[in-house]
Amino acid sequence: MAIQALAPAAQAQAILRDAETEALLRDIADPLARAGGLDPRSLQIYLVGDSSINAFVTGGQNVFFHSGLLVAAKDVNQVQGVMAHELGHITGGHNIRWSEGAGPATTISILGLLLGAAAMALGAGEAGMAAMALGQQMGQAKFLAFNREQESRADQAGASFLNAAGITGKGMISFFEQLLGEEYRLAIPQTNSYNRTHPLSGERIRALDDVLRSSPAWNKPVDAGLQARYDRVRGKLIGYLYPLDTVKRTYPPTDMSDAAHLARAYAYHRAAYQKEALAEVEAVVARHPDDPYALELKGQILMESGEVAASLPPLREAVRLSGGEPLIAGMLGQALLLSSADGTDAAKLAEAEKLLRSVVQRDSRNPHAWSQLGAIWEMKGDQPRAALATAERISLTGGDPRLARRAAQTALAGLPAGTADYLRAEDIMLASQGEIERLRLKENGQPQPQRPPS
Ligand SMILES: [Zn+2]
Repeated sequence: MAIQALAPAAQAQAILRDAETEALLRDIADPLARAGGLDPRSLQIYLVGDSSINAFVTGGQNVFFHSGLLVAAKDVNQVQGVMAHELGHITGGHNIRWSEGAGPATTISILGLLLGAAAMALGAGEAGMAAMALGQQMGQAKFLAFNREQESRADQAGASFLNAAGITGKGMISFFEQLLGEEYRLAIPQTNSYNRTHPLSGERIRALDDVLRSSPAWNKPVDAGLQARYDRVRGKLIGYLYPLDTVKRTYPPTDMSDAAHLARAYAYHRAAYQKEALAEVEAVVARHPDDPYALELKGQILMESGEVAASLPPLREAVRLSGGEPLIAGMLGQALLLSSADGTDAAKLAEAEKLLRSVVQRDSRNPHAWSQLGAIWEMKGDQPRAALATAERISLTGGDPRLARRAAQTALAGLPAGTADYLRAEDIMLASQGEIERLRLKENGQPQPQRPPS
């Protein structure tokens, strides 16, 4: 894997990127989205590194899951239930209520989200995220608290999606019941913000219960394959996000499941116990030699502990087995760059460049790949493209728009007009221009561009 954390600014919640987790969340969402008449391809699902139990939607078709919710869920069916409910907010058009609330916190949130929505419309996903994180910190609960009527409608819509997709609603009910009863007794500290953003009541659960129980899907067992994938993802998140002793308490050495091995592999790796980390991941590779995600983690551990040459074979295999998954390909690109001996191995450098180029074409929210590309172009003395990479990286991580604009201008001055790279630089310059203007208005205390109340 690589859970790659994109922490844009201090204190902003990080968006976590992990190929296996993203594939799982997409596969959970797809049948429910189709049942709700949504195009699954237009959904963007984000994993937020935050230990509180929460999920929410913003700005059209963006669904956010806190890592804390995936950790707290008892099984994948509970995650399916939450996903169905959140998609119910999307199909119900329960977007941000622009007209509501005049308090300062709400105003800041609206600005943050507006900024986010604008940046996202320009395709700068992570810039949008940084702006949103800013807004959320200052009033998320108030801002995102839908009213009870909207909650009930999202419940009913979500229930109908579960029923239509032939998925039991038992998890949806049990998740909400647990939240209501605060039945979370985990070794892992968590706070429950789902209650705050999704006001719950016994009445609401009873109304849901009627609809779900009447479905032929009610007694259908949960997809065992999906459950196994969820167990692994949960293990990876715990291993990546929690201290080693917490991980060892949650997954004692006697636990030989894939999830336990993966959790301990991450936790050992983060604590710089390379040998132990490798032994844990090897146990999973031995069991599943064709598992791209286990091979990806093996490669990551080797690469990050300085054994770059040894990391190449497992990473190449992981790329092949995953059909060229962009996040995994990005990691191979990084390993190739590291093994090019500061660019003196021209073949490795050329392979890294080609690979990373295809990564950023297929994944528009990978600033890490842009910084690798920037390093390659620096080595080759290609200053205009190095500047383009800098502009891309800054705009993706929500950095200073003035720096992004300056880098884009440098790129434009040196790139042949009309080429794809030139047009990208032009897009970034225009986007940062807009952002600079918004910041200027804000500093001067002038009225902000506002959406009409909906
Ligand atoms: Zn809700």
